[in-house]
Amino acid sequence: MTEARSDALARAERRVAEVTGAIDAPAIVAEWNTDGRIRSVNDRFCVATQYSREELIGRHFEEFAMVAGTGDAGQNLAEAIRSGVTWHGEVQLTVRDGSIFWAGATVVAVRDFDGEVEYCIGLWSDITELKRAEAAAHRLACFDPVTGLPNRQGLIDDVLPHLAAESATRDASEALVVIGLDNFREINDALGYEQGDELLRQVSQRLTTAHPDIAAVARTGEHEFCLVLNELSAEPALAEAEAEVLMRMIRRVLTRADNVSELGATSEFSAGIALCGAEVEAPHLALERAEIAMHRAKDHGMNQTRVFLPEIHSEMVARLELLADLRQAVRRDELQLFFQPIVDDTAFVSGYECLVRWFHPTRGLVMPDQFIPIADQTGLIHVIGDWVMRRACEQIAVWGTDPALAHLSLSVNVSARQFKDPNFANRVFSIVRQTGADPHRLRIELTESMFHVDLEESVQRIDGLRRAGIRFALDDFGTGYSSLAYLSRLPVQQLKIDRSFVGRIGEEPGDAAIVLMILGLARTLGLQTVAEGIETEAQFDFLREHGCSSFQGYYFGRPAPLQAT
Ligand code: C2E
Ligand code: MG
Ligand code: MG
Repeated sequence: MTEARSDALARAERRVAEVTGAIDAPAIVAEWNTDGRIRSVNDRFCVATQYSREELIGRHFEEFAMVAGTGDAGQNLAEAIRSGVTWHGEVQLTVRDGSIFWAGATVVAVRDFDGEVEYCIGLWSDITELKRAEAAAHRLACFDPVTGLPNRQGLIDDVLPHLAAESATRDASEALVVIGLDNFREINDALGYEQGDELLRQVSQRLTTAHPDIAAVARTGEHEFCLVLNELSAEPALAEAEAEVLMRMIRRVLTRADNVSELGATSEFSAGIALCGAEVEAPHLALERAEIAMHRAKDHGMNQTRVFLPEIHSEMVARLELLADLRQAVRRDELQLFFQPIVDDTAFVSGYECLVRWFHPTRGLVMPDQFIPIADQTGLIHVIGDWVMRRACEQIAVWGTDPALAHLSLSVNVSARQFKDPNFANRVFSIVRQTGADPHRLRIELTESMFHVDLEESVQRIDGLRRAGIRFALDDFGTGYSSLAYLSRLPVQQLKIDRSFVGRIGEEPGDAAIVLMILGLARTLGLQTVAEGIETEAQFDFLREHGCSSFQGYYFGRPAPLQAT
């Protein structure tokens, strides 16, 4: 370098030093060609870092500055300095006393006359307060204010990564258990929100201290908690057994007497388990898997525990795909009603039961057992049910115009969700009115399981529809939780004996006995009986001899489109 040139540079440097000294912010000037070593700093920088100028000059900036953020932010700064690209970012400076000083930094390269990077100027502004506020906001966003537990986000962002780092050193694998309180919604409605919240606090307290293997508890949903278990066997079957034992213990812990008497009700819960093996890439996946398993457990009734297995996942995907297709089915006109004859004791057709079929362009024929339960769980049943009811009423209206057919009655299956809709009766009335169907020819089939909650309301709903002439049958009788007490109060006219008993008449003496018992019961209560699933003459004869009033089954005719019956 010539003398004149080095003079010029020295002058330029002095000017820069003056400028940086004048800026009311900590600033460092790091010389690039000595590999990022600091060559001058201003007073503010010394104050902020608590180091003297002498201590700082000559040190590498990376010794006390850490580039914050994830990914390759650090690399970017080094690269930026090397190539002379201006760099913005956040840097954590470690202050002499060990505390952290957050800086928003801009690093600009100063080039020599040949265009080579000579050194860099870093301008740093104190954003420690901002960072503190950010952290506080994050903490708020990560906690459930009711229980003080981490919420879903807290579990995913903080708890799980933290525990994962810990367990990596212990060479252990965790498991997540998601607990869904089965009755909480009802309890909450009955108690009111304040007491409901108190109950949640009690539950969370008890869960946190329930067992030493519970490393953390989070509230991941309105009535869902997630337990992080320290160690569970990696073998799913063993893990399920271990978890089952733990769940039993937790149920005991929750039912332990206390001043909050309703706590006992929370011991009814469904639990789903996901093992956090090496193949679980992200914490939120483990949580989702535990939740899928929990919903699986719920599908199987209350108080169940299920472990997530990959098969469950593909089952769920298949189910979602089916549901997506089903949403289109009505609009695309893919549903069709089949009709199965119901005969009297002379085998004369007195009516039909309509059974829905779904003809899917690629799936082919889908039977109701495959889609009605899903439709019922998702509420899609209202659309399908209305369609079925409308088609059925249209058929009744058509029969009504022909004296030879006007006597035929038509049975329509109605699912639990449909019937529980407070608007159900109005929906039926308006369809009957619009189609001009004779309501006396319409029979609604309900199943026993729908009366467990709100028997009184069900009775009123049935009564309202009966006053309009509509009749009712209790379907699949004998398979539900039959209780004579409610049966005598239900204003239905017909019991349909489930085909599982009918099919084994003559094979299983016990089943014949059940059929006889149902027939006797119906006589006592003054109800008609329809036997379902009759496939042989012997079954028909047996039932007829013992006083059954109507008959249905392949022996008389399979479900089929009406033209072919
Ligand atoms: P369900 O109401 O008990 O209907 C009787 C079922 O027994 C029908 O099955 C029918 O095809 C079958 N079946 C009748 N006779 C015989 C027989 O002799 N042998 C045998 N093995 N089976 C016989 P499907 O059509 O598959 O319907 C299954 C269930 O799906 C129905 O049971 C009903 O609960 C439901 N379902 C059908 N259509 C509808 C609908 O439109 N709405 C609602 N909510 N549910 C429906
Ligand atoms: Mg039926
Ligand atoms: Mg049935």
